[in-house]
Parts: sequence; C-alpha cells; structure tokens
Amino acid sequence: MSKHPTIGDTLEQTVARYPENDAIVYPHRNQTWTYEEFNQRVNQLANSMTRLGVEKGDRVATVLYNGSEIALTVYACAKIGAVFTPLNFRLPAGEIEYIVNDAEATMLIYESATQDAVETARPELDSVEEYVFIDDGVPSETRDFYSLLDSGSPERPDVVVEEDDVYAFIYTSGTTGRPKGVVHEHRDMVEHSLLVIAEMNITRDDVGLSILPLYHCAELHAMLFTRVHRGATNVIHHEFEPQAALEAIEEHGVTVFFAAPTAWHALAQTAAEADVDVGSLERGLYGAAPMPEEVLNMAMEHLCEDYVQAYGMTEIGPCGVFQRPEDQISKQGCAGLPALNHEVRVVEPNAPPDEEVAQGDVGEIIIAGPCTMREYWNRPDATAASLRETGGTEWYYSGDIGYFDDDGYLYHVDRKDDMIVSGGENIYPAEVENVLFAHESVDEAAVLGESDEEWGERVVAYIVGEEEATAETLDEFIRESDQLADFKRPRAYYFVDSLPKNPSGKIQKFKLRSADSGGKSESIGT
Ligand code: ATP
Repeated sequence: MSKHPTIGDTLEQTVARYPENDAIVYPHRNQTWTYEEFNQRVNQLANSMTRLGVEKGDRVATVLYNGSEIALTVYACAKIGAVFTPLNFRLPAGEIEYIVNDAEATMLIYESATQDAVETARPELDSVEEYVFIDDGVPSETRDFYSLLDSGSPERPDVVVEEDDVYAFIYTSGTTGRPKGVVHEHRDMVEHSLLVIAEMNITRDDVGLSILPLYHCAELHAMLFTRVHRGATNVIHHEFEPQAALEAIEEHGVTVFFAAPTAWHALAQTAAEADVDVGSLERGLYGAAPMPEEVLNMAMEHLCEDYVQAYGMTEIGPCGVFQRPEDQISKQGCAGLPALNHEVRVVEPNAPPDEEVAQGDVGEIIIAGPCTMREYWNRPDATAASLRETGGTEWYYSGDIGYFDDDGYLYHVDRKDDMIVSGGENIYPAEVENVLFAHESVDEAAVLGESDEEWGERVVAYIVGEEEATAETLDEFIRESDQLADFKRPRAYYFVDSLPKNPSGKIQKFKLRSADSGGKSESIGT
C-alpha cells in the first residue's frame, strides 16, 4: 500500500478487521456474503478480467441495475487499476453508443434488463472487445459473468495500483445536456469516503440499503464505499420499490440509507399506510435535489427522526456541504456547512475565486476540496471552464447559484442555467416551484423560462397534479400566498401526466425546453 490507500485497499483493510461481517445481502439472487467471501469473489472477477486482457487504465463499462454484480465489478476494477465506467441503466442505445465510444471502453457488462439497448448499440461500439452478460440466456460472442467469476483465482491480483491512478469515469447524468465523463482518482474517493463516514457516523454495525442506482456517485461513493470502508452491511435492491424497501428495513434491521427527495416522498407516503416496523432506521441521507419542507416533515414522522443533507455534484465526489441533523429544523431550506477539509465561496458568476459577493447576496457557488475530479474526459474546454486554480488552491465552479446567511450556512438557490431573466429581473425557478408545491393538488412542478417578445422570457410552469389544479386556481393561490413578486408569477401552465426525470429523480428541464409539452396548456392574462 502506498502512503494513501486505494479503493481496493479499503476493502482489504475491512477484510483484515471484520472478515465475518456481512458485506453484501442481495435478495434478488439469494446471495449473502461476508467480507471475506465478497473479497474472494472480487479477486476472482479481477483475475478473470486480467486473463481476458483488461489492463490497468482500460475502461470497463457497465449497463447494470443494482446488484451484487455491480459491487463486485467496481472493486474488481479498483484492484487491477481498470477504470470503472458505470452507465445509467435506462439509457437508450444512442446514448450508450455515445458514452461507450467517448470512454473507449474495452469491456462491457450488461444484463437482460438492459439487453435490448446494449445489443442495438453493439454494432457501433468499436472499442469493446469483451461483452459480459450476467443472466441466463447469454447471447452469442458474449461471456457469462458467473462463469468468469467462478473461474478466477481468489488471490489478490498482482497489479500495483496507486493513489493517483484513475479509479472511474462517472458520466454526469445530463440534466443539462450531453453527458461528460468525470475523471476521479482513487485518492479522491478514499478521502470522500472518510468524510461521509465522519459526517454520517457510519460504523461497522450499520446496515445500509441501496435503493437508488449504484451507477450514480451518490449511492456508490457516499453509501457503498463508506460501508465497505467501515465494514458495515450492504443490502442491495435490484430496483426501487417503496413497499419492498420498507419490508427490507424491517427484515434486515436497516439503520441508514440514502434517497433523493422524490424517493423519500414515496417511502414516507407508503410508510404512512403500511404495516411495517421501520424502528431500526436511525438516520437518512438526502440530497441531489432540493427537499421540500413537507417531504422532510413527512419523512420525520413516518421513517426516522435524524437526517443529514448532502449538497454537491459528481465533480466533487459528490458531497461538499452537509446539513447535520441538529440543523434540520432551525435551518430548514439550507444546504448546510462546508464538509470537513472543504472550503466554499459564493462569487459573482464566473468571477475569479477572490471576488466573493457580500454575505447574503446570491452568486455562483465554488468549492475547493480534496475529492475534486482530475478533469472531464476528452473535454479540455469544459475542464478549463470548471476548474480554476488560484494561490495553489483549485476551485470547482459549480454552475449553481446560492448565498451564505449571517451564520455562514450555505443556501442553494438554483442552477445558473435555469435562471429566468424576465424584463431584466432574475428569477430562480426553485422559489416559484416551492410555492406551487405547497398547493394540495400539485404533485410535481417544474418552472422555466419561455422566450417572449416583450419580456425576453416569461415564467411558465409544468404541473403534474389533480383535476382541481387549474391555471386559475394556481394563479389565485400564488397571489394569495403573498410570497412571490408579481414578475415571478407563471404566465402559463402546462398540465402534464409526468415530468422527464433522470433515474436519481431529477427533473430534466432541458427536455421540457426542447420538446412540445404534449399537455394541456392554460395561459393567465396578465
Ligand atoms: P448534470 O451535471 O449534467 O446537470 P446531474 O444533475 O445528474 O447532471 P449531479 O452531479 O448528479 O449532476 O448533480 C449535481 C447538481 O444537483 C448540483 O449542481 C445541484 O444543482 C443539485 N443538487 C445536489 N445536491 C443538492 C441539494 N442538497 N439540494 C439542492 N440541489 C442539489
């Protein structure tokens, strides 16, 4: 081991300390493995990958739902220095083609649930030499995952992996456009794991539940890596289903897990009516998108009392700011305080790092910390625009707008790109969405700017809701709430059955901007 451990070393350390602790519980395949058993399988897969020609630095792509297999793959890659490249399992063929070709992956692991998209893309994937399939019915010219696993040696692979070797390309899920490969090194992720362990008080006695996608950095880095580092147990669900998740909490004594606000909402609603004992749950992690106050209150009532919020993005780990349980009520709506070893500033958008705005004023959030990416793969322009060094410190420009309150707590307001400029006034959609969300007939709301001859842009709202939610009732509700200046009031409403979301539950506004809403439109006079 070099001075700083790699991801593979964190697993080895846990095996040395707690070999008998349960590492993986995967009900979908009836698998329960201790750390010793998990590590042996990781080594077996890693050695088989080497035998098939995967070398240090090669990219190994996965198009997998959650499962023990994705956990085995990420650690197997880490042990041989291969670059783990997890893809969103919901991507259509065209997007798989874009990412796999961009990453120039040489191996691709998939399963029956993603088979159609992968096989449609396959003729266009020039760099892939080995395809691996994890279910029965392995297609031709494709390897069987479990045969590979069984045939590898259980000894630790003889490959020197160092702290500054690349561990993964994590493609950002693209709520703002074409995905970019975020290049993370081993050291970034070990640092990140330590800070989440500290902020979330993860111990070897914890039992976690992976319900959100493991291809996304929030579940992978903030949960799986921290539990493995600490020797805690990982119960993995193939897909998120609220009732099954609640039953798993009772059956396995789950103590901690992460969910995005939309998932907490679904869990709390289900728990309110289900006859399930979730008493083992001690704390929850939320983040990735704003958590409406109503949802937090519901989760506190029906699931557990203590929550930690993480704010951040793929490029910095993702967690760079935490809101601790003791601040949830007194500082509702804020993102929290900078994580350990992190510094956060608010500057004029795109201004140099020392041009901070006055406390209380909004500006762009920039973050410096030890878990920041090395670069965007193949995108020097995007890298230069996002990472700027000054005085020996490297700052990541988040593209998010926020401010610090008088106590130094950070508030995330919105994405810079989502800001609406109407008649010269800046409008942050999240503020309007929060007011709409408080209406009892509104289930979901997305506010954006539509080009307008007179005002430059006008505010419009996409609503998923019940019949009672009409343009007239919502307009009246907003006026009566007295919370929004008149120029922020939506001038048109689109009523739709659902909003386009990425798998972590984030609304993809760029899709709303580029597509015909397809829904019923109602305009408001003035
Ligand atoms: P892309 O970067 O392409 O837009 P993405 O949204 O999937 O894709 P992520 O890295 O997953 O990228 O998300 C980062 C963004 O999520 C942040 O920039 C911020 O806008 C939002 N976000 C993260 N945490 C929070 C939080 N706690 N509260 C509000 N918003 C959050």
